[in-house]
Amino acid sequence: MQKKGKSIFCKKEFHEKYSYSGKLGANYTNENTMFTVWAPTAEKVELVLYGTNPYRNERALSVPEQVILMKKGPNGVWETDLNGDWDGTFYNYKVTTDTVQEAVDPYAKAVGVNGMVGMVVNLNSTNPNGWELDKRPKLDAPTDAIIYEMHVRDFSIAKNSGVEREKSGKFTGVWQSNTKIPGTNITTCLEHLKELGVTMVHLLPVFDYDSVDESKPDTPQFNWGYDPQNYNAPEGSYSSNPYDGKTRIKEMKQMIMELHKAGIQVIMDVVFNHTAKTEDSNFNKIVPDYYYRQDKNGNFSDASACGNETASERYMVRRFIIDSVAYWAEEYHIDGFRFDLMAVHDIETMKAIRHRLDTIDPKILIYGEGWNGGSSPLPKYRQALKVNTVQYGGLQIAAFSDDIRDGVKGSVFKLEKPGFINGGKNWEENIKFGIVASIAHEEIDYAKVYKKMKPWANEPYQTITYASAHDNLTLWDKIQITNPNEEENVWIAMNKLCAAIIFTSQGIVFMQAGEELARTKVKEDGTLDENSYASPDSVNQIDWERKIKYKELYEYYKGLIQMRKTHKMFHMNTAQQIRSNIHFIETGYSNVVAYSLNGQAVQDLWREAIIIFNSNRKSISIPLPEGSWNVVVDKEKAGIDSLRKANQLIEIPAISACVLIKDD
Ligand code: CA
Repeated sequence: MQKKGKSIFCKKEFHEKYSYSGKLGANYTNENTMFTVWAPTAEKVELVLYGTNPYRNERALSVPEQVILMKKGPNGVWETDLNGDWDGTFYNYKVTTDTVQEAVDPYAKAVGVNGMVGMVVNLNSTNPNGWELDKRPKLDAPTDAIIYEMHVRDFSIAKNSGVEREKSGKFTGVWQSNTKIPGTNITTCLEHLKELGVTMVHLLPVFDYDSVDESKPDTPQFNWGYDPQNYNAPEGSYSSNPYDGKTRIKEMKQMIMELHKAGIQVIMDVVFNHTAKTEDSNFNKIVPDYYYRQDKNGNFSDASACGNETASERYMVRRFIIDSVAYWAEEYHIDGFRFDLMAVHDIETMKAIRHRLDTIDPKILIYGEGWNGGSSPLPKYRQALKVNTVQYGGLQIAAFSDDIRDGVKGSVFKLEKPGFINGGKNWEENIKFGIVASIAHEEIDYAKVYKKMKPWANEPYQTITYASAHDNLTLWDKIQITNPNEEENVWIAMNKLCAAIIFTSQGIVFMQAGEELARTKVKEDGTLDENSYASPDSVNQIDWERKIKYKELYEYYKGLIQMRKTHKMFHMNTAQQIRSNIHFIETGYSNVVAYSLNGQAVQDLWREAIIIFNSNRKSISIPLPEGSWNVVVDKEKAGIDSLRKANQLIEIPAISACVLIKDD
């Protein structure tokens, strides 16, 4: 069968005739609701109404209350205007193309259980008390952000989170106040985040995803959620009632509001690069083949490695992505977006998203994975790849630095291969490349950076500086696997050295939830889980008891975060500042990186600092420039207080970091 992809959708005539810029979706007022769906290749579109009983829609989809033939409008849309108040009415579209199929409105703002049906919604009625006063916490510069990547369920599902059982694993569990490990004074969850000092939480997908059966809340189920179903409605399994279309909206808004009250911004992980279903996705039922790229033979291409890849370069796909992001930013007050497999998208789309968000709030953060999961028909120069970041000019669109991630601890793909902190050799230039946040700096020998990576960021706010995320082994597990015969105190030293590198490096800093507690993911058979996307809670949950066991490590992270937050020298705003104020020091040792920071030049109260990382298994001595120096970070502790004075010579113990601040 001939596919339509190549023959119609890539042609200019199609684009000119069917690019629609008016309103889409079910647009509600209390006097009427206007339904508009874009379906240019359909012969007929009907609006199917299912009434307002949320418990009916799960099983009775085949028995609509009413079916209304929609009228053809401009540019391939179909429309119906219904008088009256339709708040809470469930609806779908029945689309006749080669076949007759029923689809959920891709623009649906509310959905029923398991996202099988859309719902008309009066959004004002979904606002929690005090919502009109909700404000984004202040973020002066993107590099001020300290991001904590977490999963709603992981965060509070463990019994030792101290969160009430009916709230644990849900939106309401994220913001419960004053939770502690039962029987102790050790804080957990939101209180823990406040204590740790992070400024943003990055939530793994919270839009409606396909994999978890929302109708079985008492059956433990887990998924990261990278299987999008309805882009503009929250996931139901995180709500207290997935049937009622409004509950999940209200509870997600409340979570955001409470996090904002705690001074913490909220980033959404968005997955526009593919949909969970392909042939049977809502997109594909409404406009077969339009939303996805095809290969030369007309088959769906698969740069996401999930069965399909969306075609962001096509007008209505790009428009959908921009509309969705803007909707979450405006309606839910979302503070930032992380794009999964961002390189599946084209650069023009990413720029257009940036420009749209700038009209809402230019402080909204954008970052993503500058890679894809397979080859794409989209030419490489158009892909939002990490190495194409240079094409953004000065725009705030950041890519994850796998250079520093793999430089500190070794490749995520070669489990036993170590990096700088855990016994690897020749990683010094990679660490330096990470320290300057992937920009051009004349003191770095780029030929010695892994894969001869060239500077790919124009500005430090285009780089995400990190050691670990939800994918692959946790940092702690990677350290264990690369050093199986070492004592735990050596692993802790390596972890601390890693944290010290990350939290003193330029760029936007990011950490995986639980990294500060030596998070581990152990499967039932005792092996470590490097891909826990559908693993049980026993693997994925944050085990808060580890905050007691690894108190020293936790305190170290907390101290580093406090230091980074209060000192601009560690997160300068521009590449020029970094080039002028960071200078590397030649120590004569291998497996050592040392540099000086001029704080005064960026209005830091600390005028001058020297940072030294020693990953050797023996101590080293480094001569210090003239003057008296205060050690604020060493092998044991990190923070802003002077631990001791040093002058002339400093000894750096094996596997440790040292931060020295010049006396005034
Ligand atoms: Ca769902």
